[in-house]
Amino acid sequence: MLFGRKPKSSGFKAEEITLDRRTFLTLGCACCAMLALNVPDTALAQSPAAEAHLQAAKTAAGQDLVSYLRLADVVAPVSGLPPVAPDELMKMPTPAPAKVFDNLYFVGNKWVSCWAITTSDGIILIDAMDNDDEAKTIIEAGLKTLGLDPSTIKTIIVTHGHGDHYGGVGYLKGKYGSRVVLSEADWVMMETGLEFDRPDWGRPPARDISVVDGSVVALGDTKIDILLTPGHTPGTISLAFDVMDMGKVHRALLWGGTAFNFGRRPDRLPRLQTYIDATDRVRELARQQSVDVFISNHDLFDGAVAKIDRLKTGGANPFVIGTETTVRALTVMNESAKATFEVWKA
Ligand SMILES: [Zn+2]
Repeated sequence: MLFGRKPKSSGFKAEEITLDRRTFLTLGCACCAMLALNVPDTALAQSPAAEAHLQAAKTAAGQDLVSYLRLADVVAPVSGLPPVAPDELMKMPTPAPAKVFDNLYFVGNKWVSCWAITTSDGIILIDAMDNDDEAKTIIEAGLKTLGLDPSTIKTIIVTHGHGDHYGGVGYLKGKYGSRVVLSEADWVMMETGLEFDRPDWGRPPARDISVVDGSVVALGDTKIDILLTPGHTPGTISLAFDVMDMGKVHRALLWGGTAFNFGRRPDRLPRLQTYIDATDRVRELARQQSVDVFISNHDLFDGAVAKIDRLKTGGANPFVIGTETTVRALTVMNESAKATFEVWKA
């Protein structure tokens, strides 16, 4: 197991990671809960600049990326989609685990996804769902169903420090000794005060491997490029890596934290700006690397479960959406963030 590193300043300030109780309650104590409470304050979305960004987001979304327009629903009802209730999604039947590429597997539920990358030296897991029970009954059992051996989970990359992504780490690390990777900023956040917590989330893992922008997580024949894409949390990381579809190589990008669920407060504007900057930067990188697979850690954004159903019918792999569509998705996120910035700063 190798962990290359190209140190770079994260630019984060510790004071950005606290959340007062009033905001916490407003958000309903759930990761991404703003999506569950996305009742827009339409009176706020009247600035010409905000309207222009909302229109740009809608144009970029077209008909096929409306799920990402949920982000803009925070300030105006643009997606036309019903609000999301995480608790309802958690109660839905667990989708069957699935092989999505030669080296990428989905295990997860309708609320939160876990992805497994197979390598020549074991499994890299991306996120670990909400708690021990899900780690056991969905991740561990799902891998076995797919013919994979959970005891080979060498590395768990946690995209950000919210419990629906780290909650099951304790079970897997305790049983299989997996190493746990987070960004330095989110290790600090988990050590100094959780932004959100729920009784059905597992406890944060103990500090293990810390990565920064430009780090490479390597296992066997596989390398994963770590991109620091803050905003959702101070140290959200996104991952770029190769996937193979019947031997044909595609470049995949997994965005590690999508919603702006840290609340409308003037002192949060710098954090929203980091999201805008991250989507700007990674959109350019997606062009340069011809990223043609764009996935999420929540089905409600990438529609992974429906794509898995389509995969079963044969034909082209629906997860290969193309570079232009990947760039449009990042534009929807970017323009939605800019619209929100304009409203929140008012
Ligand atoms: Zn989150």
